[in-house]
Amino acid sequence: MRIIKLKKGYKVESHLKGKFYKVDLNGPSCTCPHFLIRMKKIGEECKHINAVKERYGKVKQVSLKNKNKSDKILDFVRKKGSADAMELIKKFGEKGVDDLIKRGDLIEERGVVKVLE
Ligand SMILES: [Zn+2]
Repeated sequence: MRIIKLKKGYKVESHLKGKFYKVDLNGPSCTCPHFLIRMKKIGEECKHINAVKERYGKVKQVSLKNKNKSDKILDFVRKKGSADAMELIKKFGEKGVDDLIKRGDLIEERGVVKVLE
């Protein structure tokens, strides 16, 4: 896939040769119909965004993704007051939950997880 770096964002060639979509990694967003109509709504990324990330922004974007995930976990626990550790791990994955406990944002006591405010 051809990618052209712009001052702000990237141009990614679509499967139609000579047609380009604009990708902005802040967001991230893409101007292709697939992203605008479908992926945006479900919080997923299209292949153009992924292509740019793979080539240019991997490290930064991964940490941003983790940060969003942490926020989601914290919000979830905060709303409920406390959460069952197994439920949380099932929902968000062991690593994300573990990292928050290690960082001290969450505390776990006898299988119940709470936000440390
Ligand atoms: Zn796209």
